[in-house]
Amino acid sequence: MKKLRFTELTVLSLAAMTLTAGLTSPAQTFAQATEPTVPFQILVFNYTKASPENLAVAEQEAGRILAEAGFPVTWLNCPVTPGGSATCRKQVEAADIRVRVVSLPEQSKKLFHDSVFGFAMAPAFASVYYESAERLAKLDDASFEMPVILGCVIAHEIGHLLLGPNSHSASGVMQPQWERKQVQQAMTGRLLFTPEQMKVIRAQTQARTRLQIAGTLQSQQ
Ligand SMILES: [Zn+2]
Repeated sequence: MKKLRFTELTVLSLAAMTLTAGLTSPAQTFAQATEPTVPFQILVFNYTKASPENLAVAEQEAGRILAEAGFPVTWLNCPVTPGGSATCRKQVEAADIRVRVVSLPEQSKKLFHDSVFGFAMAPAFASVYYESAERLAKLDDASFEMPVILGCVIAHEIGHLLLGPNSHSASGVMQPQWERKQVQQAMTGRLLFTPEQMKVIRAQTQARTRLQIAGTLQSQQ
């Protein structure tokens, strides 16, 4: 039987990496930053047939994984057509994260077969393929598992934004290839960030909080 393996394509442009590096600089201005009390609001744009109910489950699972790593989030579902609230239409700022749920392009299906489940463009954009979450659920003969798997894929791609380049690991949610074993870990809530990754993520939480504070102060001037 053909063994399916799922990996993903990570896009890290040079400009994006420069931006990520820049996340640390405002630290000098706000040396006394404390633990954040306000979760990060992540905007979600769903371009697929994923239902609002399934998306809500996926967001809840991704939020749980990120919160356990010290990166608390809330989700705002935005329309993909022009319009929506002012928040959905606002320009991307340095500390922002946006998630797109998209369909696997036909050419990628040919190029990567079943091997792609998403990609990230640091520091702000995480995209996940709906069909890949569907296929992973089928590996476990359980289509109903799709929303939780989609949530783990979202956490993985956001992990790329928070951890920087070369952030795959041999265990946890940042494993580069997902097979049945990882699906079963996902379904039992064990597909998490490693303790080392959690340390980096907590530092990112601080850095992005400082950026948000700096942005707010600037907009008030
Ligand atoms: Zn990855």
